[in-house]
Amino acid sequence: MSTARLTINLQALARNWRALDAKTEVETGAVVKADAYGLGAGPVSDTLAEEGVRKFFVAAAEEGAAVRKAVGPGPMIFVFSGHMEGDTVLLRANDLTPLINSGEQYQRHMEALPDHPFGIQLDSGMNRLGLEPADWAELRPRAEALNPAVVMSHLACSDEPDHPMNRHQLKTFREMTDGIAAPRSLAATGGLLLGPEFHFDFCRPGIGLYGGLPFADAKPVVTVDLPVIQVRRLAVGETVGYGNSWVARRPSRIATVAAGYADGLHRAIGGGIDAFAGNQPCPVVGRISMDLITVDVTDLPKDPERLRILNGHQTVDDLAEAAGTIGYEILTSMGNRYSRGYVE
Ligand SMILES: *Cc1c(COP(=O)(O)O)cnc(C)c1O
Repeated sequence: MSTARLTINLQALARNWRALDAKTEVETGAVVKADAYGLGAGPVSDTLAEEGVRKFFVAAAEEGAAVRKAVGPGPMIFVFSGHMEGDTVLLRANDLTPLINSGEQYQRHMEALPDHPFGIQLDSGMNRLGLEPADWAELRPRAEALNPAVVMSHLACSDEPDHPMNRHQLKTFREMTDGIAAPRSLAATGGLLLGPEFHFDFCRPGIGLYGGLPFADAKPVVTVDLPVIQVRRLAVGETVGYGNSWVARRPSRIATVAAGYADGLHRAIGGGIDAFAGNQPCPVVGRISMDLITVDVTDLPKDPERLRILNGHQTVDDLAEAAGTIGYEILTSMGNRYSRGYVE
């Protein structure tokens, strides 16, 4: 093994979907945007379709084409960015369902693909995407007559269960959609965990499928193994890496492994994380470089050939906390230098 290896456990992915699905009485879709949060839209979508997922969500039409290829005809693939200029050919060719975000998008869709399904995205307070209440009030009679595939909105604070914004958005979403015949959806992972009031006709989790918070009971889906390039011996007082940020306080053995911030192991991870030889944690020491990380392996009985930096003991959220970010960013910034492996 000469390159860092990212292994995706499709069994764990399927289990996470089933566990989330079991928490509701309604249908459960899957968000596979950004190449399924960096884990590979093809294998991830294929696995989830086999589990029974019939509604997939992507950010842009281009991503939808890759998902369609994986899942074949049948499942719906929704596009959060809606029907943008230049999307028409992709939407039609791949049978993608745009989530209309504005009057302008609605008009474009009606002119370009009048008989093609669409959904509606509403802004219930996040102020990011979707029709605002006034625009929706104007459009609703016309759109409703055409049976939208879904009317949906997104929660801004659902990872904080007690945040008053959750109930505020729930109320706004109800005011905007009560009485409509179309299926409704409000909840991603966080909203699903908030309880049945937030579930409507289907939920659409993303991060929870991939083993991240706020789904605390998620099974870890990703492991990352890093090959050791060299192990060296340091005398007391010698330093490691850029800025001399680590100093040996005892005679030490330092392993240099092949991955760095260009592989999503952010430089901001100043320390406080380990790399594992089997179950044995070894502290990451010194600064993380672009392609290299240094690890104190002094306490190992022999030099390791590889070290694991992401596993069940140290999750994406542990790395995220050390980097001052969120699990979503850790996953999606795992670059394409990794060799990828999938276990069924
Ligand atoms: C990303 C996204 C989701 C999935 O969110 P998670 O927090 O990953 O579950 C659902 N809906 C919309 C609109 C999104 O942008």
